[in-house]
This record gives sequence, C-alpha cells and structure tokens, in this order.
Amino acid sequence: MKRISLLLAALFLSAAGCVQQELSPKTVQKTESIMGTEVTVTVVARTAGEGEAAIDAAMTEIKRLDAMMSLYKDDSEITGVNLAAGKRPVRVSPEMIEVAAEAEKIARLSNGAFDVTIGPLVVLWQMGLKEGKVPTDEEIKRILPRVGYWNIVIDKKASTLFLKKPDMIMDFGGCAKGYAADKAAEVLRKQGIRNGIVAIAGDIRAMGRREDGRPWRIGVQHPRKENKTLTVLELSDKSVSTSGDYERFRIVKKKRYHHILDPRTGKPSQGMESVTVIGDRGAVIDPLTTALFILGPGKGMKMVKDLGCDAIFVDDRGRVAATEGIKIDR
Ligand code: ADP
Ligand code: MG
Repeated sequence: MKRISLLLAALFLSAAGCVQQELSPKTVQKTESIMGTEVTVTVVARTAGEGEAAIDAAMTEIKRLDAMMSLYKDDSEITGVNLAAGKRPVRVSPEMIEVAAEAEKIARLSNGAFDVTIGPLVVLWQMGLKEGKVPTDEEIKRILPRVGYWNIVIDKKASTLFLKKPDMIMDFGGCAKGYAADKAAEVLRKQGIRNGIVAIAGDIRAMGRREDGRPWRIGVQHPRKENKTLTVLELSDKSVSTSGDYERFRIVKKKRYHHILDPRTGKPSQGMESVTVIGDRGAVIDPLTTALFILGPGKGMKMVKDLGCDAIFVDDRGRVAATEGIKIDR
C-alpha cells in the first residue's frame, strides 16, 4: 500500500541513512497481506531466526483477529452478530467485546461522528461506487435509521453483543487495525522482542527503540504531495494512526468519493484530507482518528487533548493544525 511503503521508506531512510545499514542482521522485517491491506512487522532481534519466528507469531495473531472481525468473511464473529441483528445476543470472544467497548466510547465522545454501526451505509456506497454510481439522497435517507451506536448492547459479563434493530451492520473497519497492532506487539513481547514496529496500513505500533538505541522515526505523508512528509515523528512505545481521503476513493463525474462516511449526512465527510493521531493505545487512536477526520480541528482538538493524545490535521485547503510539540515540515 502506498501510504505505508512511503512511511516505511521514510522510516528507513531517516533511520540510518540507507536501507542496507538499517537492515543489518539483527533488524528483521516481513510484509504480508492481511485485513485487506499490507502488514509490515519489523523487529530488532538477537538472531535472524529469532526475529523471523517472532514476526510469524505476530502475523498469526493479526490473522486470528481478522478472522474474528472481518465484515467480508461469512464465518467471522462480527458476521454472526450482524446476522442476529434484531433477533438475539451473540456470544463473542473477549477481544470483540474490547474493540466494541472502545468503539462505543469514541462514538459517545465524538457525538456519533465515529459509529461502528455505519455498516449499511458502507455497503450502499461500496456497491454504488463499484458501478460508478453515487447513491441518491432518497437511498441514503432510507438507510440512515439503521445506523446508531446507541442500539448496540454490550454485555461484558455474558460476553455477548446484540444489535437491537434488524438489518443493522457493525463494521470494525475503522477500529480493528489499531487494536490488532497493539495485540501483535503484545505477542512480539511474549516472544522476547522489546524493540520493533507493527504497521497495519496507517495503524502503527512502535515498541522500544531502533537497533542503535534511538527512537523509531516515522514519516507522516502529505495527503496531496506523494513524496513529501508533513513531519517525521520520533516514537518509542507509542501508537500512531492516519486516516486520509487519498488512498481509498473513487472519482465519479470528476468528484472524489472516499471511504470515511459522516453518519450525520450519510455521505463521505467533507473538509479534511488527513488526520494523524499519536497516543498510547492503537485501540483508542484508530477510531479517534476516523472521528477527527469527520469533526476537523475545530471540534476535534479538545477531544484529542482530553484523551492525552497528539494530532495533526490537514484540511481540504491544505491548512495544517497540530497539537503543541509537533513540528511541521514547511
Ligand atoms: P483506513 O481503513 O483507511 O485506515 P479508517 O481507520 O479511518 O481508515 O477507517 C475507515 C473505515 O471505517 C471505512 O472503510 C469503513 O469501513 C469504516 N467507517 C467509515 N466511516 C466510518 C464512521 N463514521 N465511523 C466508523 N467507521 C467508519
Ligand atoms: Mg481508524
């Protein structure tokens, strides 16, 4: 995927001056295609064998979570919950409860800008745009009543999820990757790895430090200038997520339609080109980034600060807003 290869290119170029140096025997890296995107895991290990085994375990963890949370798999737990919408609660894994609870929290804090029950709208837009058609206002109006996070019942004790209305669809597309990056990093730690990076497209977990003892350097891509970074972050034991309109979109009649939908209008949200959030947990910042993409800095900045995170916003006029402490490249 473009964004991540650029990010990683920036990471390596800035990390040690050149790719060969960074990829010395102790720094091991692998890329696989999981969760419909590119997953790259980099570790600093004692030996290449140790590094590779740890990376394989991390990849297996991401595949396990994908099998649970993918909307596009008939036998995933989320599909089970969606098929039982309006009928009955469904018993799910503790991981599903955790992601749903974080998603619900961000939905509440963002006044529903982030909403995991966005599924019916996602399906409507995906089906339409695939054929080069934009859904009509009438079609959107018919779908909107099926969206509403307040109709999710999370029973932690019974470990069940229930969608109160029939035809509701939960979609973890905006929050599963950050959570999975956290969990994969936990698996790396159990394998004895202290230093590494898990990157699931734009959702990245940086553990410890580089081989040379310095923090990891992660370039944040400019949403419109392919080879330009907004800034290079120096991170250690932090998560970073980016949501943008520049990778997953379709052009219909010269207009760009991207994949982040505003639940208030039922249409692709307007006003922002990209949002990056830095925080302690991917499970929080992945949905937060999606929410902020919809809210923009005006409404979003306070939320970022209240949650103890940092953020960079780029609006559709190219204006950049960031929390104090983030240095923007000019
Ligand atoms: P990416 O998947 O490119 O990393 P995001 O994390 O912002 O970007 O997630 C976008 C995905 O989240 C969409 O593809 C869709 O599945 C889902 N989504 C779209 N709009 C919303 C929304 N308002 N609230 C929650 N999820 C959303
Ligand atoms: Mg997200």
